[in-house]
Amino acid sequence: MRTVADAAAEILAAIRVLESEAVPLRDALGRVLAADVASPVDLPPWDNSSMDGYAVRAADVAGATRGRPAALAVIGTIAAGARGERPVGPGQAYRIMTGAPLPAGADGVIRVEDTDGAIERVQVFDDRDAGRNVRPRGEDLAAGAVAVPGGTRLGPAHLGVLASVGCAAVAVGRRPRVAILATGDELVDVDRFDEVRRGERIVTSNSYALEALVRAVGGEPVPLGLVRDDPAALRERLAGAPPADLLLTSGGISVGAFDHTRRVLGELGAELAFWRVKVRPGAPLGFGRWRGAPWIGLPGNPVSTMVTFELFARPALRRMQGMTRVFPVPVPVRVAERVTTAAALTHFFRAVVAPGADGVLEARLTGPQGSGLLTSMARANALLVVPEERRVVEAGETLGAVMLGDEAMLGEAVAP
Ligand code: AMP
Ligand code: MG
Repeated sequence: MRTVADAAAEILAAIRVLESEAVPLRDALGRVLAADVASPVDLPPWDNSSMDGYAVRAADVAGATRGRPAALAVIGTIAAGARGERPVGPGQAYRIMTGAPLPAGADGVIRVEDTDGAIERVQVFDDRDAGRNVRPRGEDLAAGAVAVPGGTRLGPAHLGVLASVGCAAVAVGRRPRVAILATGDELVDVDRFDEVRRGERIVTSNSYALEALVRAVGGEPVPLGLVRDDPAALRERLAGAPPADLLLTSGGISVGAFDHTRRVLGELGAELAFWRVKVRPGAPLGFGRWRGAPWIGLPGNPVSTMVTFELFARPALRRMQGMTRVFPVPVPVRVAERVTTAAALTHFFRAVVAPGADGVLEARLTGPQGSGLLTSMARANALLVVPEERRVVEAGETLGAVMLGDEAMLGEAVAP
């Protein structure tokens, strides 16, 4: 049995980065930038004012106070987008707006609040801004510098930066196509919920959770539907599947009499690289290659499916899109209650992480940890990681937690 780290590394080593495609900048949110983008210009492109006020020479305002103001001749007004035509000479000033280019001769901007705001002859009441409030050219980004590194998953700030360096379109990793097959005689799709009401079947919730997980990481789900625990049916469905960059199967991967996934894939020519990982939930994980693409066999229990997706499929899908950093960094959290494990496996417990009374992050388990308890996954914002060798963890000890989702920690109060 492989450790979680070894299994994850082996899967990642088998992943190749997909080709890139150009998309309009507005459509690039959440996509992964294919290569470094350098700025062709200095940003800001000119020395400019960070205040509404008066562009002056420091020497002309030195020692100015309310009692002994400095008086300067205003030789014009520079709006953002305009330019001061004349240099500022001794005893002169320009009225200037935020973002407007600093005129030649001036070395600072006096905020308007420290003046009488006059248009022809201004009185300056304070010299605290002498030589200040200038944003130098290239302060944000020098021409030639990397604006956004390749491998970055693009968020709103990245789109803003890319726009400011002239990218109307960007090259991003293609969306991985992820085939998803659910297996199990006990399952129906939600349109057959009357059978669930009659107590005969359960809904294939994994189909929905997995499609959503694939979308959330930037992939394109290719649903292969639901298939019975029948080798012939499984073979037929897989053989007829459209090509994909990754195959995810759910269920039928354990040691039950009706667990056929591994054997049928093998008969169809798949190479099985490994089966079983020292993890709970999700031990019967399978991995291999089929038709030139990786296959990850996720155990069917709904929590096992989701946890093993986090550990193994999400990093693989990140890498396919070109991300370089793909594994979550566990956050240190104080365990709020005693935690025990029943086997020498790395455990991932569903937990709610939030600051405790002293401000330190604290993890509380969502309750019982059965791998069929999907509602606990819906309540969790983190997976508390209990290493294999820790069979008992006392309340107050510190462990790592993998935070889940973009909105992992939200509250009702407005931040102070
Ligand atoms: P398996 O991995 O096929 O042995 O399934 C383990 C458990 O997960 C069983 O209780 C199944 O009913 C449940 N299960 C398997 N596949 C799904 C699915 N697609 N949606 C919801 N539950 C499932
Ligand atoms: Mg099954």
